Amino acid sequence: MLTCKEVSKLVSESLEHPLPFRQRMGVRLHLMMCSMCRAYQKQTLLLRAAMRTYARHEPSEPLSEQARQRIKNALKTDGK
Ligand SMILES: [Zn+2]
Repeated sequence: MLTCKEVSKLVSESLEHPLPFRQRMGVRLHLMMCSMCRAYQKQTLLLRAAMRTYARHEPSEPLSEQARQRIKNALKTDGK
């Protein structure tokens, strides 16, 4: 049985590269029983997703004219 410390390390590691089957199973088993590590995993995944989104939109994707217009219109209709 993995400890919480090991699981948190493996969760981070699993973002870098796929874990070997045995470790993956160990993590999964632990997560089923440990809400703390589940929360940790969820946060880690969210953070990664956010960072990916950020990375994708940065640094060189200026808004298209269309998008800019859409935002302008949205702001206008929102401001009543
Ligand atoms: Zn745990």
